[in-house]
Amino acid sequence: MTDDPKSSGPRKSHKNNSDGEKTDQGQWGRAWEVDCFSLASVIFLLQFAPLIVYYFVMSCDQHQCALTGPVTELYTGTLHLSDIWNRIQPLTWRAVNIYTVWVAWQVFLYMAVPDLCHKFLPGYAGGIQEGARTPAGVINQYEINGLQAWIITHLLWFANAYYFHWFSPTIVFDNWIPLFWCANILGYAVSTFAMIKAYIFPTDARDCKFTGNFFYDFMMGIEFNPRIGKWFDFKLFFNGRPGIVAWTIINLSYAAKQQELYGQVTNSMILINVLQGIYVLDFFWNEAWYLKTIDICHDHFGWYLGWGDCVWLPYLYTLQGLYLVYNPVQLSPANAVGVLFLGLLGYYIFRMTNHQKDLFRRTNGHCKIWGRKPEYIECSYTSADGQRHYSKLLISGFWGLARHFNYTGDLLCSLSYCLTCGFEHILPYFYITYMSILLIHRCVRDEHRCSGKYGKDWKRYTTAVPYRLLPGVF
Ligand code: NDP
Repeated sequence: MTDDPKSSGPRKSHKNNSDGEKTDQGQWGRAWEVDCFSLASVIFLLQFAPLIVYYFVMSCDQHQCALTGPVTELYTGTLHLSDIWNRIQPLTWRAVNIYTVWVAWQVFLYMAVPDLCHKFLPGYAGGIQEGARTPAGVINQYEINGLQAWIITHLLWFANAYYFHWFSPTIVFDNWIPLFWCANILGYAVSTFAMIKAYIFPTDARDCKFTGNFFYDFMMGIEFNPRIGKWFDFKLFFNGRPGIVAWTIINLSYAAKQQELYGQVTNSMILINVLQGIYVLDFFWNEAWYLKTIDICHDHFGWYLGWGDCVWLPYLYTLQGLYLVYNPVQLSPANAVGVLFLGLLGYYIFRMTNHQKDLFRRTNGHCKIWGRKPEYIECSYTSADGQRHYSKLLISGFWGLARHFNYTGDLLCSLSYCLTCGFEHILPYFYITYMSILLIHRCVRDEHRCSGKYGKDWKRYTTAVPYRLLPGVF
């Protein structure tokens, strides 16, 4: 959200660590120093992001998802400021129990059940995998078992819904706001713990960054890869679970609620379950590949990731399903097919673009892209230990059309999710608005980072592929 592009890029810098010792690091990743704009953004987000999420959820709960509902009530005098507090659904013990069981279950699946899927699913890379080289030159190992956790969790979900009946499948929807408080407690607790840990017992002190500004360090994180023991990796766990495993469970709960309320599940609800289900499944199928993406191999672990994964993602990425519970939309067959086509097209572009880069990097360019030997730009960079490394930037296939065509595919997927909800309200369109801001901002900060990392080689690349998202436009 607020990475400072100016200070990205490899450079030799002498900084004080938490003990006041001088460190000598060539760096890329988040900023060492904070400018006023970054600090103002950080403070704004720390204060208002939880309120924004609550506002969206409460608008659905009390105003049929009309975002203007609460403001109109205040304006017309039907709601007094003093009433707002009385209307807030409180934290309940039931929600605390549900959330505790949920998180404990995901920790259990992550830590105690080694991956078996890679043994019988051809093409799936699970089990122990290596991440990317950190700025300090470390390569971490990860136990990749997210797909297995997702499958087991969903099998249990369906077994409960159709056979055991331990709890109602509408359980998530029915406790949505009390669960919001639980998610916030975990989000703040894990971010605070990560901050304290960075000072007292960091996993790798060479990969810590201290700006000296409390708010910035809290938000953007100090430790690069905080871990407990050898295997409990904060970034991998919180990035994928409980948030992304929850995503499809939340959508299923919304579908169950529609069935309970209206006696049927609309085609729009089925579409959102299917399209977002494909996206989530893709995430877990490619979990090992995600070790090489920005979240894992560039961002430090702070509130941005900790709170974001616990609250922002499960609450705002699922807004379409929530909206459809309050406003069931039955799309015409032509519209449903159009939305499905757009979603699948977006997914195809997203997946193929990511696949082309992955294949190219894995084989060191010894592969075929669109049936031909790939073209690339040779580049080099220096890591913290002063070693020179060599890399290649692909300029064939989708990577020859634009420098972030994977983001373009992602945006088409996002648009299709929103379109399932029709055009009556603006709330479901929050997702495409947010994703556009997120991914455009990500383009910019990634490019500053790469420009710092690769220097003049990056310039040669941007000359060869001049557009970011849409050829000829941007
Ligand atoms: P990328 O997978 O595009 O990774 C960017 C990195 O790839 C660069 O830093 C650089 O790293 C390398 N790279 C850039 N250009 C090239 C090239 N031409 N050839 C080879 N390597 C190149 O970005 P992200 O990690 O941001 O995103 C991964 C996926 O996750 C995307 O599809 C995105 O849409 C999705 N995503 C989804 C989000 C969501 O909330 N739904 C949020 C964020 C991402 P290096 O230093 O190795 O050279």
